[in-house]
Amino acid sequence: MTYRADTARYDTMQYRRSGKSGLKLPVISLGLWQNFGGTRDYPSAMEILGHAFDQGITHFDLANNYGPPAGSSEELFGQIMARDFRPYRDELIISTKAGYTMWPGPYGDFGSRKYLLASLDQSLARMGLDYVDIFYSHRYDAETPLEETMGALAHAVRSGKAIYVGISSYPEQETREAYRILKEMGVATTIHQPSYSMINRWVENDHTIDACGELGIGMIAFSPLAQGVLSGKYNSGGVGGTRGDNPNGTLRASHIEPRVLAAVDKLGEIARSRGQTMVQLALSWALRRPEMTSALIGVRNLEQLKDNLGVLNNLDLTPEEIAAIDEATKD
Ligand code: NDP
Repeated sequence: MTYRADTARYDTMQYRRSGKSGLKLPVISLGLWQNFGGTRDYPSAMEILGHAFDQGITHFDLANNYGPPAGSSEELFGQIMARDFRPYRDELIISTKAGYTMWPGPYGDFGSRKYLLASLDQSLARMGLDYVDIFYSHRYDAETPLEETMGALAHAVRSGKAIYVGISSYPEQETREAYRILKEMGVATTIHQPSYSMINRWVENDHTIDACGELGIGMIAFSPLAQGVLSGKYNSGGVGGTRGDNPNGTLRASHIEPRVLAAVDKLGEIARSRGQTMVQLALSWALRRPEMTSALIGVRNLEQLKDNLGVLNNLDLTPEEIAAIDEATKD
């Protein structure tokens, strides 16, 4: 059956401007990092993405290497575009990135112009798109001149293959430098994508968040649920089928050591006192600062997506709640 988007899709979602740009993003965006790879079947992927769009999630985040295998998330998204989302292309913000290992040899990794531009062409082909809305440098590469990496982003914009550009996981000084170089080239740094959660505050500690606020760069927080740790599921031992259950996965023992689980226990009490689930508390916290445009979640199934969207019922945290969260996570 052909997908038809819900006519009420813009009724409940909230949108925030990305820094000083003209681009607005939903406060909840959906990423296709590791739940939409080669083993995901089309109907269940479409069930999740269709519901997301029906609820006003207009932003879908990808990267060249998402899968596994690398590239398969973009291929799946390309099928969704071709079969169901094509009529809605102008209502969607689709992002991709290059910066991590994608193909063998010296031109399939890091930040060279050769890699970024070849990779962008490959991503467009996999997704069946003429352009992406946001193209990111996925990570800072200390061995490539930043002028070269930013030059590749500027070229992507000038060639019409990207509408906006962004940087991901760049520390404060490199963020400032990237912004300056792009500005000289007449291109805005529209967005910064760092990891950020109640238990991962590096952008606050190294002042990247302050730099983005000052320069007018929007921010989108990836892994705001700390890959599921902040749902509390690892406190109750229920790890079957989850990310933490995969010995080769990205959620390692150090992410769920006793110190972390003790903090999550305390956060559970705060969530209950607010009448929220733990993921909803985590998302309202990630969105509490005005610099944060959107929280970029990953979900394995529709139930998780619905749970997470419940955050829209209560995004506001009191100063006392924020202080209690700081206290719970201070170790
Ligand atoms: P999250 O912190 O949202 O973690 C997602 C995982 O949390 C899910 O797979 C699921 O784990 C669990 N989860 C989600 N909702 C619930 C719920 N309601 N109840 C219980 N568990 C839940 O984000 P991700 O780490 O997935 O990252 C999100 C996106 O950010 C990625 O898809 C990608 O687009 C982007 N990203 C960018 C990076 C970068 O370098 N720029 C790096 C990493 C991510 P489980 O599957 O175990 O059930």
